[in-house]
Amino acid sequence: MPRDVPQQTQLTVFETVAELRQRISAAHTAGARVGLVPTMGALHEGHLSLMRAARQECDLVVVSIFVNPTQFGPNEDFQKYPRNLAQDARLCEDTGVDVIFHPDVTDVYPVEFRTYTEVEGLSTVLEGRFRPGHFRGVATIVLKLFNMAGADIAYFGQKDYQQQTIIRRMCRDLDLPIEIRVCPTVREPDGLALSSRNVYLSAEERRSALALSRCLKLARERVSSGEQDLSRVRQEMLNLLMSTPLVKPDYATLIHPDTLEEAVVPLPRLVAVVAARVGSTRLIDNLIIEETA
Ligand code: AMP
Repeated sequence: MPRDVPQQTQLTVFETVAELRQRISAAHTAGARVGLVPTMGALHEGHLSLMRAARQECDLVVVSIFVNPTQFGPNEDFQKYPRNLAQDARLCEDTGVDVIFHPDVTDVYPVEFRTYTEVEGLSTVLEGRFRPGHFRGVATIVLKLFNMAGADIAYFGQKDYQQQTIIRRMCRDLDLPIEIRVCPTVREPDGLALSSRNVYLSAEERRSALALSRCLKLARERVSSGEQDLSRVRQEMLNLLMSTPLVKPDYATLIHPDTLEEAVVPLPRLVAVVAARVGSTRLIDNLIIEETA
């Protein structure tokens, strides 16, 4: 595609939908392709990888930074979730982002807000079982952001495997005119998936947190070496987690990549998924396991 639209280099922060829409409609009128990267801030290399992917194929890159209250349960970390707009803005600027959209919670959820989006079935398994209402909040804010921004392409991380599955299904079911890109999980050199919540971990918890990526690799090894009994693989994943100090697993299993149902027999493509508390921090991770020819 010809790229004759000049790329904006200066970062602008918008707090209102009106300003955001004006900028995006001007870009669209000029023939630009607009990319949206939804985030909750506390940006790290995982987020930056999505922004770089957007920068590669879009003329205008918008990053939303919004800690979305409706996706947090009553006893979760909404209040203490890390927030650092000044640092996030520097990272966005260095990554060539054009626009940060940082709305106020009272504008996103005005009084008497009553409309939610629910992707049935996919929302109630795995994370949904342990975080009731979480994906209702996620689907609602993502749909709202899509409506606010009117972007052409939106970028999500594979790190939140269930989330991207739900968002892709929502886009299909509701005919949303947006393309979804899913980018690979960015990890620390020792395997820990980057997460804004990693800052909560003490040094000892940080070491224990490696059990998550280890149990996924273990699952891949077992499946790749021809293990047919997936319940045995599940048990080994759980054993690894439970034998690690400070780690309390919520689930560790192998699922079908689209239905998210627990796989009974090995499939050409499986996803190993894990969620566990490490100390008081809840972490998730996953690994796609593909049959090698
Ligand atoms: P969050 O700020 O946690 O809502 O995440 C915003 C986006 O960044 C989501 O699409 C996440 O899946 C993605 N993301 C978070 N961590 C990573 C990671 N380690 N690698 C790739 N993408 C990530």
